[in-house]
Amino acid sequence: MKKIAKIAVDVKHPRVKGEYSYIIPEELIEKIRIGSRVLVPFNNKKTRGFVVDFEEEELIDEKLRNKLKSIIEVEEVAIPEALIDLAKSLSEYYGAYLIDFLKLMCPVKSGLKKTVIYKINRQFTDSLNSDIQKKIYLFLLNRERASIEEISRATGIEKEKVRNGLNALYKKNAVFKEYDAANRAKMKYSLGNDNDYNCNSHEINLSVEQKDAIKTILKNFDEQKKPVLLFGVTGSGKTEVYIRVIEEVISRGKGAIFLVPEISLTPQVVDIFQRRFPGKIAILHSALTDGERFDEWVRIIRGEVNIVIGARSAIFAPVKNLGIIVLDEEHETSYKQSEYPFYDARIVARLRAKKEDVLLIFGSATPSLESIYEVQRGNFLLIKMRKRINNRPLPAFEIIDMREELKKGNKSIFSRRLIEELENTIARKEQAILFLNRRGYSTFVLCRDCGYVAKCPHCDISLVYHLEDKSLKCHYCDFKVKALETCPKCKGNKIGYYGTGTEKIEEEIKRFIPEIKTVRIDADVVSKKGMMLREKLLEFKTGRANVLIGTQTIAKGLDFPKVSLIGIVLADITLNIPDFRSGERTFQLITQVAGRAGRGLTGGKVLIQTYYPESYVIRAAVNYDLNNFFKQELKNRKEFNYPPFCHLLNITLSGKDKEYVEDLSWKICEVLKRCIEEDVEILGPIPALRFKIKDNFRYNILMKSKKYTPLIQAQKQLKEISAKEEKVKFSWDLDPYELL
Ligand code: ADP
Ligand code: ZN
Repeated sequence: MKKIAKIAVDVKHPRVKGEYSYIIPEELIEKIRIGSRVLVPFNNKKTRGFVVDFEEEELIDEKLRNKLKSIIEVEEVAIPEALIDLAKSLSEYYGAYLIDFLKLMCPVKSGLKKTVIYKINRQFTDSLNSDIQKKIYLFLLNRERASIEEISRATGIEKEKVRNGLNALYKKNAVFKEYDAANRAKMKYSLGNDNDYNCNSHEINLSVEQKDAIKTILKNFDEQKKPVLLFGVTGSGKTEVYIRVIEEVISRGKGAIFLVPEISLTPQVVDIFQRRFPGKIAILHSALTDGERFDEWVRIIRGEVNIVIGARSAIFAPVKNLGIIVLDEEHETSYKQSEYPFYDARIVARLRAKKEDVLLIFGSATPSLESIYEVQRGNFLLIKMRKRINNRPLPAFEIIDMREELKKGNKSIFSRRLIEELENTIARKEQAILFLNRRGYSTFVLCRDCGYVAKCPHCDISLVYHLEDKSLKCHYCDFKVKALETCPKCKGNKIGYYGTGTEKIEEEIKRFIPEIKTVRIDADVVSKKGMMLREKLLEFKTGRANVLIGTQTIAKGLDFPKVSLIGIVLADITLNIPDFRSGERTFQLITQVAGRAGRGLTGGKVLIQTYYPESYVIRAAVNYDLNNFFKQELKNRKEFNYPPFCHLLNITLSGKDKEYVEDLSWKICEVLKRCIEEDVEILGPIPALRFKIKDNFRYNILMKSKKYTPLIQAQKQLKEISAKEEKVKFSWDLDPYELL
């Protein structure tokens, strides 16, 4: 009887993507297990794939059975079986192809830099007649395994001849191939060597709240392993709680995954972990080369390290004997992957924790409404930390009504109060952070004669002026042109630059306070692979700059003791985004940004400039009235039927032929309405808010449902239809974070 394996093949085209049966050749039977990465023939090509199941030959249809092809080769690389199981659940849940989740669990390009190791097959009995092959074979018989280089060096045979000889031996089945990770340099993560955090846990006196939290979490770890929501104000010392709990868990021989929103933005946390767990940590971050990523992956899978730190995709790390998953700043939207394969690391974490019997901790100073709702329903264990370490006061808020400023003739983006406070801060040799949720210089370019607005020709979206290189850039594609001096439409010269971005703030503030030393951090800086960001952070940390200007990227876990003033330049920007989460986002931003102030002994102050000070979101944030905010916001969500009271599925169709895309969108709507019986709202199709991107026209259909099942059913339907559709690209995003 032949052994058959089901293999998820790595092919691009959705029409043939899927799982196929292959025969396992006799000599590979020992080496193949669930999760093995293999090479198989597919459409006259060789393709990679993963073994996801074994099958009985008799159960396969006879016609098919005779056509089955054999696995060509098996690699050392294999995904643990528990993760294969997770990938299967996720592909069901998100209506995505299994292979695309498997690829997230295994370094894709490990083949690039790996060293091939040849291993002797002791069962081989045929005779060899080539001298070179004989020599190589004898050498391997002694050594068991070696690379081409090693064989060449030891036998004195040229490398090319060794390669040919080995290929021949491999074809005859006299040797096997294996892959070994070459040793590549590890990237070091350290924000200078000023050691302001204690390395030795025994020298830190835990606060009462920290002690209680640790005790409750460990008790829960031993008993029911209910997911925990650690809800602690900024500066309450959550990091130390995570560290102690992880210490305990790994002392019991288990592993840990620690997730952060974005590795390059949390260097301080990474630093602390590296000092407290020397040699035990693997860091998965976006600046790793494929080779480095592969090395880290191997260290993890072999159990050489037992703590993995990383952004959302680290939830797929093959940690041995996993005991705990911590998700810090759980409210952050970056846990959601907003492109194919769509997934939410929070949902993956919950699923994985359940499957592998692992304790899950979500931590935040501003938990998401989804998590608050889970607490209310009794699904999460709530642990609160209400006080800051050493009772450092939370910063005081001051709201500045910009309408009043305007009435008094101040047309600047800065109120007089903010300038005054900045001057005071600098005079006291302290530091400030200015925060504006928009990068660039001006946000649109308008001709005051003819009304022309400069837009991206591919995306139909206003171009943003960037002072640095005097260009107009599209923030959705790479389009870039030189700044305009005359209007291309009427040839007039009344071209004006309007709106405000971080670059403009930086320039303006220097006009008011010439001696100010600024450093700017926004997506333009962050996207440059992390290194630039680290330099900028150091510039601020070491006091070479006294004002940090940034977008929301800087609202995350940075800890600067000398910061005593925060200015939110315009709170209304986030508040006015047409999204049901805009209130929640604004609330989180104000609270988180404020949490950056007064971390040292000096206390601090937060100035919020707004045209809408009556907003309940701003009111609740400045009064630290989280309970009231949650109550009000949950009430609104319930009333308008938004998550967490229902689930959303956002479907996008895009293509070059506008009429065709629109037509198809209507048809899809009809299909969905017909095939889904349960109580589901189907809205649309409507032209997407970003209607044209990269020359593609986009339409949205939004589905709302109390239960998941009909949405999962809809995804299945969409998967089938989209595989046959050549002209239109489909995507569907379950629990979306971006509706625009
Ligand atoms: P959170 O993540 O809750 O906002 P952090 O974990 O960043 O807070 O802690 C805030 C600050 O308090 C950090 O500078 C940390 O070094 C310090 N810290 C934490 N626990 C203690 C403690 N028990 N004693 C003294 N300082 C502490
Ligand atoms: Zn564009």
